[in-house]
Amino acid sequence: MGSMAAAQKPHAVCIPYPAQGHLNPMLKLAKLLHHKGFHITFVNTDFNHGRLLRSRGPTSLDGLPDFRFESIPDGLLPSDPDATQDIPSICKYTPKHSLAPFCDLISKLNDGSFSGVPPVTCIVSDGVMSFTLAAAKQFGLPEVFFWTTSACGLLAYAHYCSLIEKGLTPLKDMSDVTNGYLETTIDWVPGMKDMRLRDFPSFIRTTDPDDIMLNYLKTETQVLHKASALILNTFDVLEQDALDALLAHHPKIYTLGPLHLALHQIQDERLKSIGSNLWKEDATCIDWLDTKEPNSVVYVNFGSITVMTAEQLTEFAWGLANSKKHFLWVIRPDIVAGDSAMIPPEFVTETEGRGMLASWCPQEQVLGHPAVGGFLTHSGWNSSIESISCGVPVICWPFFAEQQTNCRYSCVEWGIGMEIDNDVKRDEVEMMVRELMEGEKGKVMRENALEWKRNAVEAAGPGGAAQLNLDKLVTDVLLAQK
Ligand code: UDP
Repeated sequence: MGSMAAAQKPHAVCIPYPAQGHLNPMLKLAKLLHHKGFHITFVNTDFNHGRLLRSRGPTSLDGLPDFRFESIPDGLLPSDPDATQDIPSICKYTPKHSLAPFCDLISKLNDGSFSGVPPVTCIVSDGVMSFTLAAAKQFGLPEVFFWTTSACGLLAYAHYCSLIEKGLTPLKDMSDVTNGYLETTIDWVPGMKDMRLRDFPSFIRTTDPDDIMLNYLKTETQVLHKASALILNTFDVLEQDALDALLAHHPKIYTLGPLHLALHQIQDERLKSIGSNLWKEDATCIDWLDTKEPNSVVYVNFGSITVMTAEQLTEFAWGLANSKKHFLWVIRPDIVAGDSAMIPPEFVTETEGRGMLASWCPQEQVLGHPAVGGFLTHSGWNSSIESISCGVPVICWPFFAEQQTNCRYSCVEWGIGMEIDNDVKRDEVEMMVRELMEGEKGKVMRENALEWKRNAVEAAGPGGAAQLNLDKLVTDVLLAQK
């Protein structure tokens, strides 16, 4: 493409919240926008930029002439360079420390400091990075929010205010978490049914009115309407009621999901090679799965942030061993809080040939593999929608944030999941894994999951809602004159 044409391209600056579960979907969205003709600047924190270079190789962030990576400081104190950063610290410091460098970056992108880069025309920001609105205002740019949660998760966060007003949170005492108080029925949230207090995102489980996370999510949902549009990685039939309820307060919502399926429509090898995994993937998982029968393997993965105690890890291990099923278990090196993950050596001997352990895997490929018949998950939204898109039923062990809400919807609304007690015991793991893989309930859940998969494929396929909504987003919002 000649320099004139390049100069005329619209230019989207995409800025994710600096955690794995936000980077992945934002990168996918950026690729879709690139495919629609946008020049892309993808802004990571210096910390994640460094991690990506280590996990994916020194040239992995070179990008393309019209898909470039930049990085800015996050204001956090140094921490283990290869482990997940502290989430409350990101929420506390990044909005304060990243705004000025973000504005400087936009100035530089605009003033010709980078040759061949057209002026910035819009900002695509993670919904929980609303400090970027100040940059949009300063430069007179339209800004859209991408909330990387489920619609039901976002709707639940949006009711933090009402939960506080009604005195339901903060808790009077932390014993409320276990004494039955969280079972309180919440039947007054439009668009949500069969909800209990415990199905709301976990940050209500505090006694501190100044709790960082409770207040962060409360404020971030209060500024939703300030963006020109809201993007969600979901599809309408999956979350119709929650979407309708959100629409009542936010007229412009664009459902573009499942994003990874939408991306399958694009055959661009250069884009495909750009990835966002902060850990090095173990590709041998796929070779191992290739040797297994269809629907015979339980895939176990708790995402990038979940931590557990050494006891919980041991209970999961023996539950899996005793189920006698094949399993692929991804154990992050930092999964046991304050310790390195210790797997009992007898467990390894006991499950030899039947189990594979890895520290990080190409999850979308794993879930799409015919050998995988079930997923023991923490119910992060990306994992949930990736599993739904592949027709894989789940056992949920929600850890934090809106994973509690996703778990509730998986089990009750979508009929694809069973919840495992937070105080996990090996017998329950064994029983649930057997039920998932060979029981009657497991069979029904698999059928439901396959039905959702069909809906997902239709939504993201040629002429589907995801494509139509993306086109509308581009013409009605991103290319519209302010
Ligand atoms: N993921 C992966 N390999 C792994 C574990 C996770 O590629 O071994 C990806 C997964 O596909 C998903 C993201 O990391 O896109 C995790 O996001 P999610 O919302 O499920 O959970 P979080 O990490 O935010 O708790």
